[in-house]
Amino acid sequence: MSTSFRDECGVFGVFGDSEAANLTYLGLHALQHRGQEGAGIAASDGSLIRTRRGLGLVGDVFSADHLAELPGTMAIGHVRYSTAGGSSPLNVQPFTVRYRDGQVSVAHNGNLVNAVELKAELEARGSIFNTTSDTEVILHLIAGSPQSTFVNRLVDALARVSGAYSLVVMTGDTLVAVRDPMGFRPLVLGKRGDAWVVCSETCALSLIDGELVREVEPGEMVIIDADGLQSLRPFPEQPRRACIFEHIYFARPDSEVFGESVYSQRVALGRLLAEEHPVDADVVVPVPDSGIPGALGFAQRSGIQFQVGLLRSRYVGRTFIEPSQQIRDFGVKLKLSPLHGVLRGKRVVVVDDSIVRGTTSRKIVRMLRQAGAAEVHLRITAPPTTGGCYYGVDTPNREELIAHRMDVAQICAHLGADSLGYLSLEGLRTVQGAGRGGYCEACFSGDYPIAPPQVGEDEVQLPLFQGNSQEN
Ligand code: AMP
Repeated sequence: MSTSFRDECGVFGVFGDSEAANLTYLGLHALQHRGQEGAGIAASDGSLIRTRRGLGLVGDVFSADHLAELPGTMAIGHVRYSTAGGSSPLNVQPFTVRYRDGQVSVAHNGNLVNAVELKAELEARGSIFNTTSDTEVILHLIAGSPQSTFVNRLVDALARVSGAYSLVVMTGDTLVAVRDPMGFRPLVLGKRGDAWVVCSETCALSLIDGELVREVEPGEMVIIDADGLQSLRPFPEQPRRACIFEHIYFARPDSEVFGESVYSQRVALGRLLAEEHPVDADVVVPVPDSGIPGALGFAQRSGIQFQVGLLRSRYVGRTFIEPSQQIRDFGVKLKLSPLHGVLRGKRVVVVDDSIVRGTTSRKIVRMLRQAGAAEVHLRITAPPTTGGCYYGVDTPNREELIAHRMDVAQICAHLGADSLGYLSLEGLRTVQGAGRGGYCEACFSGDYPIAPPQVGEDEVQLPLFQGNSQEN
């Protein structure tokens, strides 16, 4: 199977504002942490949908002139995460197509578990695919549906797919926002004056002076057109399985996700971690930026002072030229630099949100020691990541996850830390919203709410993991 059948993404849509494309551009800026590989906007002026997409960051893809070429009062937008093998401009969304009933444009966050089978079936019937993205499957299913209205065609299409989707779909005159029945990925509904807004995270609403109305509920389809807003529940009800990793790492701390403040949750995770894994130390240092709220919580609960012991460079792009002479840990040094005055001679607690392969943590531990830390105690505000994600978070194959191959003592030795403490799964479940249940925690528990895709006897391989706390 194509390795690019998965995405981590952000979506945005606006209905009823003469500055629709400009607002979408701003919204995508706020969602940039959800995807840095490519960005796109499609805008409708009521008769024609125009689309601009490109590889790169939002600010690089669009100029003022480009936005001026996207007139209309309705627009949708998308940011896409970098995934191995998939960085073709063709895979950048929104996808806009014309079928027998006019134009339709779609932006998708999530990952469809049965996309491979559906694609094979559609191809056997003569469908021609443009991209290697699972989202295109949805468009083919819409176009092939025998239903007579667009909304019914969309319902028909989505009834056939399985997996995670928070979708924003647009025709010439209608905006539809829909979340899969388990609600894996976030999606919220907001207002800005008379205009309706839908987006992955509330931080995008805040940027455009919008107000949060509510979440799009799992399994809900919100239809917005000239007659107003309508809500449908077209799918059989399922237990909610919101992604716990949005709270731990993925979402922006100034967002409210699944009805909870991401920042408060992360601080609470850090506090609990300090209770579960106390240690005698002199300073608590976050791995910036993802470890900051957790480190604050750890410091609050332990009474050990919080210090900025690692500085993150704001200016490192994703590509840089490697010096021909090998410099040890070059990549991490370019991103993070230690503050010797804070670290020298100190017993340091270093807090991060997760360990995936262990490569970053190992380098960080070495960096802290080289900067003179007397002891390095690593604390992680999540349980060990033991399984890959099939619902839209970019994780490597299980074999590459360090916690799949080693136990905590072995990981600690491999990383070269004096001690290592992960938050327990039971602990994670007690924290605020997480305590109410309804989360997917498959990457920690192995309990997959929807069976991972199979190819023959084998579990489908996940693509190469690219990330190591790029922006977040
Ligand atoms: P690793 O070096 O492979 O152990 O990566 C760990 C780092 O990657 C941590 O600092 C996390 O904040 C970050 N991280 C965890 N999950 C992801 C993800 N899905 N995408 C990008 N970065 C991640």
